[in-house]
Order: sequence, then C-alpha cells, then structure tokens
Amino acid sequence: MSRTPRALAAMALTAAAGLVVSAPPAHAAPKFTPGAPGAGDPYFPDMGNGGYDVAHYDVALRYLGNAKGIRAVTRVKARATKNLSRFNLDLLGPLKVHSITVNGAKAGFRRTGAQELVITPRKGLPRGKAFSVTVTYSGLPKKVEDAALGVSGWIPTDDGAVALNQPFGTATWMPVNDTPADKATYNIALTVPKALTALSNGDFAGKRTAGAWSTWWWKMPRPMASELAMVAIGKYNVKRGKTPKGVPNITAIDPTLDTAPGQGAAFHKLTADVTDWGSKVFGRYPFGSTGGIVDALGVGYALETQGRPVYDRKGRPGVNPSSGLVAHEIGHQWFGNSVTPRYWKDIWLNEGFATYTEWLHSEQHGGDSAQKTFDEVYATPATEDLWTVKVSDPGRDGIYAHAVYDRGAMTLHVLRKTIGDKKFFQLLRSWYAQNRDGNVTTRDFVRHSKRFGDDDKLDTLFKKWLHTPSKPA
Ligand SMILES: [Zn+2]
Repeated sequence: MSRTPRALAAMALTAAAGLVVSAPPAHAAPKFTPGAPGAGDPYFPDMGNGGYDVAHYDVALRYLGNAKGIRAVTRVKARATKNLSRFNLDLLGPLKVHSITVNGAKAGFRRTGAQELVITPRKGLPRGKAFSVTVTYSGLPKKVEDAALGVSGWIPTDDGAVALNQPFGTATWMPVNDTPADKATYNIALTVPKALTALSNGDFAGKRTAGAWSTWWWKMPRPMASELAMVAIGKYNVKRGKTPKGVPNITAIDPTLDTAPGQGAAFHKLTADVTDWGSKVFGRYPFGSTGGIVDALGVGYALETQGRPVYDRKGRPGVNPSSGLVAHEIGHQWFGNSVTPRYWKDIWLNEGFATYTEWLHSEQHGGDSAQKTFDEVYATPATEDLWTVKVSDPGRDGIYAHAVYDRGAMTLHVLRKTIGDKKFFQLLRSWYAQNRDGNVTTRDFVRHSKRFGDDDKLDTLFKKWLHTPSKPA
C-alpha cells in the first residue's frame, strides 16, 4: 500500500481555503475524471495505474490443466485517491474477461494497448472512498518472454504450472495494479486436481477436497508488491515444520529433482537456518512463514517470491540450491520484499542487499570474508559492464545487470568500511525497522546512511559507487 497523508492533507487545506475565498455553488457536481493508465515508472510506463490505492486482493483460481488453462475470480479492494470516472487494472495476454462489477454493480470494460483493462463503473468513485472490483475471467495464461529480461508470468511445467512475476507477469494470470509502489495484502485460493499440490505466498490457511478437486487456501497478510506474488501447482514432496526460532517453514521439491537421500530434509533445514540467521543480523523475520520451492522450470533463475522463494533447478536432480543462493533469496525477504523500491531503477536496493546478504552469510559461516569477495569482484577489468553500468539507474533492459548485484553489494561493503561494523549493522537494522512493509528510493537510503557517518564523505562514496559509470579508484 502506498501512503497518502501529506498530499491529501495539503489538498484538504487548499479546499478549505478555497471555500472561504470562492465557495463553489452548492449544486456544482464534483468533477470525475479517468485514472492514469500507468503508475509513473519511467522504465515501465504501462505498468500499474493511477487514481486509486489497492488494499487487498482475493484470488480464487481453478487450474484446469495446461491444455485448458484457468477459470478465476479476482476481487480487488481499493480506495480512490481522486474522483474517478473510470480506472484501469493491468491484464496481459489472451485471458478472456467475462464480467466485472464495481461495488456489486455491473461495470463497463474494454481492453486497450498491451495490458490495460479499462473499467467504467456505473457511478463515479469519490476520492477517499473505498470500492471493490470483481473480475471474472478464464483462458490460457501466456507467459511473457522479454528479449532483455527473460521469462516471467504463468509458466507451464511437466506436472502443473508456476507463476513467477518479476518484473511483470502477475498480470498474465490476474487483473492487478502491477506496480511495486502499490503494495497490498493477498488471499489466494487455488483449486486443482486432487492429485496435485498448490502452493502460494505466505501462510497456509487450509485445504478441502470435494470430488476430484482440492482447494488450497494461502494468505499473505502483510503488504506485498505484485511482482512477488507466486503460484506453484504440481507434484511436490512437501515438508512442514518450524525454524528453531519458531517461524513456520514450508518447503517443497519436485519429486523428479528430489532424488538424493536426505535432500528434502537438508533443504528444509538450510531454509530454516538462514531465516533465523537473517532475523539475528537484520531484525525479526518480516513475514508469518518462510520456506522454498524447488521445481524444474527452465527459466534459469530463482526468485524471492514473498515468504517462499522459488528455485529453478531444471536439469539438476539430486542437488539442492547452494547456501549462497538460499541466503540471497531469504535475504530479499527483508530487502526488496518488506522494504521495496518504489521505482524499478532503484532495484540495487533489492539486489545489492541480497548479494551482500550472501557475502555476510559466507563470512559468518566459515566461508570467504566479505572483504575477500569484494577484492575478487574488484579485480574485474574496468572495461566490463560491472563498471560501465550506472548502478542507481541501469536502464530498463539493465535491471538485472551484473552491476546492480555485485556493485550494489560492493557499495554496501565500502559503506561498512567507512563507518565501521557497529554503525553499519545498526544502519542495516534501522533501515529495515523504519521502512518495513513500505516503499523506498535510493535518495531515502542515502539520507538514512548520513545519520551514521560524515555527510561529505558519504556523498563522495555514493557518487562514486552508485551514480558514476566507471571503476572507482
Ligand atoms: Zn535477487
């Protein structure tokens, strides 16, 4: 959820002042205008929408198989941030929308552009008022294959389907305000053939089997960026338990990959241990449960889906994700998921921090020190894109650039060396504590850091490491 108070308060003051000077005639109807078709992200102008703020999504999705696709109802609870005559949700690909209601009344709708679902309610939606939208839809979701950013969205597998949605993809299977700036809570109910397991973000909230179908309920009661929503349907060996510190832990491995003795138990324990270690270093684990899903996807990456990361291990049977990879994805639960960049250009606040979590985990578990890793990466020749990409603004096609990850982590290491270990870990913990469940920018981080060190020194440091596309001396 994005928060509004200052802007709204200013508008209210202006309105009150306006009443004194030139009160509009009592019969003048308020003006209702369309919400913007984008959320203002310069890298992805079509993603997200304007004019409202989503609080909660209720998704009820029936998976009919990879030939027949899905049948679903998504209910969106939102609040208008201006007087809205109409507004958009994002919906990508060939899904067919059957009906839409707003506050229970049938609404008009049309699809425009690549991903705009334009909804016209019967009556205008007044600023500040809550409203609900119910969208009934079905069809074969189609994943996104982006030349620079790879595969995301609804991905069919041999025994089901998995939805991974960074940076876009959620809109391939549900109508959504697809911007990290509008975080919301989610309830996801998945109805699947009863031989399959259905997993999603957050807390397990029940399962019921009726006839040939089982419904699995999942809840994410803390704000989540849309890109972190996840669905995993298929055959899984599931383990349930708690971490030593008491965080519920649910892990699952595709049986075709779960072929080594003790593999599932080892993955379950590694996830638990990294979760508890993160709580010790960064502050209390952000969510009500943890875990991980190992599946054969062929996308070539792991993703920090909120509360339960997904690891693609296609072609790697019998081998769990490494402790470094698990540290990276679990580290994201604090940095990226709980503390979320508002704009995609600031993605180093996800990836630099998750990469540094790997370095710290290694350092504190008998592996290489962060300094050794830093030195190795620093040896990269000055002509490589580690140094020629601007970390704080890597470009739309560069959000997964090497620099965003490694140079982002190096920035944190240089900061640590500059202010000392004690202040550095205080800085990390308070960055999380003060921005938990919220949205942040690079400027916010620079301002936060300056509470722990000399202004000019830190300005120079961030200028060299984040804002200048060349190798710092
Ligand atoms: Zn990452």
